[in-house]
Amino acid sequence: MSLAEFALINRIRVRTRERADVVLGIGDDAALLQPRAGEQLVVTADTLNSGVHFPAETPAGDIGWKTLAVNLSDLASMGARPAWCTLALSLPDATTDWIDAFAEGFFALADAHDIVLIGGDTTRGPLSLSVTAMGQVPAGTALRRDAAQAGDDIWVSGTPGDAAGALRAWQAGTLDVRQPHVDPRWEALRLRLARPTPRVALGRALVGLAHAAVDVSDGLIADLGHICARSGLGAQLDATALPLSDALRGLFADADARQCALRGGDDYELCFTAAPARRDALAALAAQLQLRLTCIGTITDGQGVACDGDDAGAGGYQHFG
Ligand code: ADP
Ligand code: MG
Repeated sequence: MSLAEFALINRIRVRTRERADVVLGIGDDAALLQPRAGEQLVVTADTLNSGVHFPAETPAGDIGWKTLAVNLSDLASMGARPAWCTLALSLPDATTDWIDAFAEGFFALADAHDIVLIGGDTTRGPLSLSVTAMGQVPAGTALRRDAAQAGDDIWVSGTPGDAAGALRAWQAGTLDVRQPHVDPRWEALRLRLARPTPRVALGRALVGLAHAAVDVSDGLIADLGHICARSGLGAQLDATALPLSDALRGLFADADARQCALRGGDDYELCFTAAPARRDALAALAAQLQLRLTCIGTITDGQGVACDGDDAGAGGYQHFG
């Protein structure tokens, strides 16, 4: 069944939860929010376009999840506590099935992170989804790209490269992104692309521990490059230290797996820098969060990102150009 605009908005509105600091949510011309005294607002926006940011055949539930996940990941990389979001939808045709499936993915993640949808916009057009997410940090404590220091360790969370592995297989026509794969290794990679985990708890815990942070959406080398550029420093990476998942290692040749981890995007892990004196504290944090944290290099006085053991850098690797 196709939905009129009001019915569509209502179908989304009934899924939203309450938050004490939302004075007025969906239904008026604008929302009213009550930020905490002494805190700074952290605001980010990201748009996902069908066929550009996700395969056109991606299930609606996965689209809903990812639309919010990429924005939560930006809040995470700033060390922010998520609070509110808006959702601008451009839909070619709104069926109840599509909206309900989209809402399942979107609100599963929203509820898990206590972020509340407080408004948005709904239009007819090519499938495109745009979220603005807002969070808060105690004034002056946000993790910024420009705060790395020479001599810092460079860390990455999780096992980067998994989402890129799934994307390469989908592009090669060997992985269906729409349904569970029988091989648990392919299924692990597919889920990392379809439903990435924004590292919100990690980001918040890094406030006071890390110097600079960025989330890995475009690839480790590219995103670490943003920290270097903004901090006026360089980075020396060790490709042999990369924490590759068993699935990625089992399904790809070593050089391909390393390239996925160094240059593949869509993982939404955090890359951050911290003083070497923080190693014990970070090991304890990894144990507490049950999340792998791996030191993969050092911030230097130079500029740009250099990488030991990078097959592409050595000229021997062509696949990803
Ligand atoms: P207006 O014409 O005043 O902009 P709309 O009719 O577009 O208002 O929206 C009515 C209410 O529904 C507003 O509170 C708006 O924020 C909310 N809204 C519209 N689309 C969405 C959406 N996709 N998700 C959440 N809230 C929405
Ligand atoms: Mg209005």
